[in-house]
Amino acid sequence: MRKNERTKKVLKATNQYMVFFLLVAFVITCCMTLFVTVLSDSLRVELTKETVSSAAKVTFWNVLFISLIFTTIDKLRRRHTVELPAKRIGEAAEKIIKGDFSVRIERQSRFATDESFNKIIDCFNNMAQELSGVETLRSDFIANVSHELKTPLSVMQNYGTLLQSPDISDEKRIEYAKGITDASRRLSDMMTNILKLNRLENQKIYPDFKEFDLGEQICSSLLQYENVWEKKGVQIETDIADDVTVTADAELLSLVWNNLFSNAFKFTEPGGTVGVSLSATDNHAVIKVSDTGCGMSRDVGERIFEKFYQGDTSHSSQGNGLGLALVKRVIDIMHGEISVESTVGQGTTFTVKIRRQQSGDIK
Ligand code: ADP
Repeated sequence: MRKNERTKKVLKATNQYMVFFLLVAFVITCCMTLFVTVLSDSLRVELTKETVSSAAKVTFWNVLFISLIFTTIDKLRRRHTVELPAKRIGEAAEKIIKGDFSVRIERQSRFATDESFNKIIDCFNNMAQELSGVETLRSDFIANVSHELKTPLSVMQNYGTLLQSPDISDEKRIEYAKGITDASRRLSDMMTNILKLNRLENQKIYPDFKEFDLGEQICSSLLQYENVWEKKGVQIETDIADDVTVTADAELLSLVWNNLFSNAFKFTEPGGTVGVSLSATDNHAVIKVSDTGCGMSRDVGERIFEKFYQGDTSHSSQGNGLGLALVKRVIDIMHGEISVESTVGQGTTFTVKIRRQQSGDIK
């Protein structure tokens, strides 16, 4: 194999040398013939066979020597301007193949190489940057999912072990069994949310746009929480405009209201108030969901739409940080806007603005 490579190298060098030899031989022969003919004519010197043959021999050795110099110079030039940058790009690509996305290639000096190599290097560096971003997202996602899976699983294991004790009271048995049911419900909710988010992100759900009464939809979503607000003693204030119809995907939008309402009730202490309002212009509908709950800081507010982010850990067992990520994705698909205003200790207001007519395309 090595011998083979060496032979190839020798053949390549000979080939390059031959190109220069033929070129130099052609140029020099033409020049010499012209020069000698003009000189002999003007000096009226008779050229004999011997003088021409000895001059041809000297010229031949000259051509051999000059071709060698040209080949060497060309080899050095190619090594610096082509082979070295190509080698660096190849080495970096191999590192990427092995999973090292931190690799970056330094740009070549403008005089050292062709500018097109710098263009390739720029594209390569951008590609490596994108890949490392995707890799971080993927590993964060896996870490988050594993963490979220572990908590309910260990709760189920603990309750399962406790249930194995022979002398537990009926009361305890019911409590442990409820613990297992709650943890498994949490797991199943999380998997449902991950699947929904995955489908929404990969755009496998194509919105099914139909005209419907938005006020009616919001009221029926809110009524699902009647038990919760009655049990918690939370006041409800509504200001829903009549006859606001929108052309949108009703199922996707109900995901938005359910998440916003469930958060409002979750983060509002007994005796607090949750308010819902709907107003509309010719083109847009604006929905506000407000509460007098714990509120959130500006730092938390900036991250609430991230997957698995939970700003308030005291309620972490009642969610998995995917609700608002789903909401944001649905609003994006609807070409709408969502914003949040919040003051710690005073409450939060989410404002959603959606188009009343959708163009039908998805982002
Ligand atoms: P989860 O289901 O865990 O609540 P979400 O994505 O719905 O996840 O919410 C993410 C975070 O946003 C919550 O952990 C909380 O810190 C914050 N948040 C959302 N809604 C409210 C609200 N109405 N009041 C205060 N904080 C909120």
